[in-house]
Amino acid sequence: MKYPLAKPHIGKKEEHYALEALRSGVLSIGPKVEAFEERFARFVGTKHAVAVSSGTAGLHLALIAAGIKEGDEVITPPFSFVASANAILYVGAKPIFVDVDPHTYNIDSEKIESAITPKTAAILVVHILGQCAAMDRILSIAKKHKLKIIEDACESLGATQMGLDGRKRMAGTFGESGIFAFYPNKQMTTGEGGMIVTNSGKLDALFRSLRNQGRGKNREWLNHERLGYNYRLPEMSAALGLAQLEKITFLIRERQKMAAWYERCLALHAGRIIMPYVAPRNTHTYFVYTVLLPRGASREMIMQKLGRAGIATKPYLPSIHLFSFYRKRFGYRSGNFPVSEDVSKRVLALPFYIGLKKSDVAFIAHALARAMP
Ligand SMILES: *Cc1c(COP(=O)(O)O)cnc(C)c1O
Repeated sequence: MKYPLAKPHIGKKEEHYALEALRSGVLSIGPKVEAFEERFARFVGTKHAVAVSSGTAGLHLALIAAGIKEGDEVITPPFSFVASANAILYVGAKPIFVDVDPHTYNIDSEKIESAITPKTAAILVVHILGQCAAMDRILSIAKKHKLKIIEDACESLGATQMGLDGRKRMAGTFGESGIFAFYPNKQMTTGEGGMIVTNSGKLDALFRSLRNQGRGKNREWLNHERLGYNYRLPEMSAALGLAQLEKITFLIRERQKMAAWYERCLALHAGRIIMPYVAPRNTHTYFVYTVLLPRGASREMIMQKLGRAGIATKPYLPSIHLFSFYRKRFGYRSGNFPVSEDVSKRVLALPFYIGLKKSDVAFIAHALARAMP
């Protein structure tokens, strides 16, 4: 494909830092991870950040640390990457899906309360595609019903929301813990990797123990205090993370610039192609650039036509509850979460990576308009 869907932005600094790590002789549990954690916490504005081997691993640990266990229910949206719901299953709890908002595709905060039962223990909020869910409302529901909030911010690094109190906060910093992911298609990458952020010193220590086989602090290296995991991030990955973090403002601004190009080019077709909606108090950091096709248009045919023009596209995301595994285990079927399903049927992700030029975006937008029925 001439235009792939995503591409990481790797430069000299990444090469330099990764080489430094390789030549240092310390390939795990070393200074790069420490520095990466410290700078990441500073960037998002939390007291602590704990690096882990993936976003999924981070979600798993966040649910363990929140005390979510067998028999508990956790409210979460079906319009997400499968890992957010899977992590709930890892701890033996049950994901309770709540349909999404038709404009932002984030969990519909007005539908949360009717899904709460005596078994509900937490809300696993997902900030989808690059912008925050309606956190003022969600925080007040959580407070009223004494529920924990864990944020899957894997797609929304750097996204901000201005609260009703006038305070601007970043995705991942509203709940007791927030999780980020650094797979190569995210806003920044470490190859594979993730980060958990929290303001609690107690949780910070627990995350450090859990990711490292349940070990106690340094002096008790040989003692395993609890059931732990090997969810450590290698030094080479942390080296990449440091280099990416140094240019994170640039990485995010470039994404916003490319999104604005798409918006300008697609404005001519605004009646037929629905562009991303940014909620009033949000900033969007565009994990991917998606459009919504008209009901009844054959997405399959449009994708084929674009593919023939060298343009990669992807129906991102499918609704989790309709995956065969979830259908079989929980008996879900079409119609359970109509908004999520409608978006899943019509959404299309377009090529989106730093290096795309204005003329490339114009070409892709034009090809999309021509491929429409
Ligand atoms: C990418 C992603 C994850 C998990 O990330 P990995 O690092 O690939 O494990 C979790 N949730 C969402 C919504 C994601 O997009």
